[in-house]
Amino acid sequence: MIQQIPVMRICISCRKTYDRKNLLKITKDHKEGIMFHKGMGRSAYICKSRKCYSDSKIKKKLQKALKTSLGPEFIEIFEKEITSYNDYPNKGI
Ligand SMILES: [Zn+2]
Repeated sequence: MIQQIPVMRICISCRKTYDRKNLLKITKDHKEGIMFHKGMGRSAYICKSRKCYSDSKIKKKLQKALKTSLGPEFIEIFEKEITSYNDYPNKGI
């Protein structure tokens, strides 16, 4: 049996460490631009905490982490993404 070692990543907002599965991954893909949960390139992670993803400074923090500028359309997609993400049932919690 192969044991799965959780990959730990830091939330860019609260700076706490979480299992990667419990974080929203935002990647600045070299070709496709900003992507969620996929893509190759510089990545940032945000935890499920409302305090973090609804932080008014989250866009600035993301821009800094991804070293890119994010338009208002990004925030729209981001909010949709994080809302649907939060709808997933928490298994085992
Ligand atoms: Zn957080």
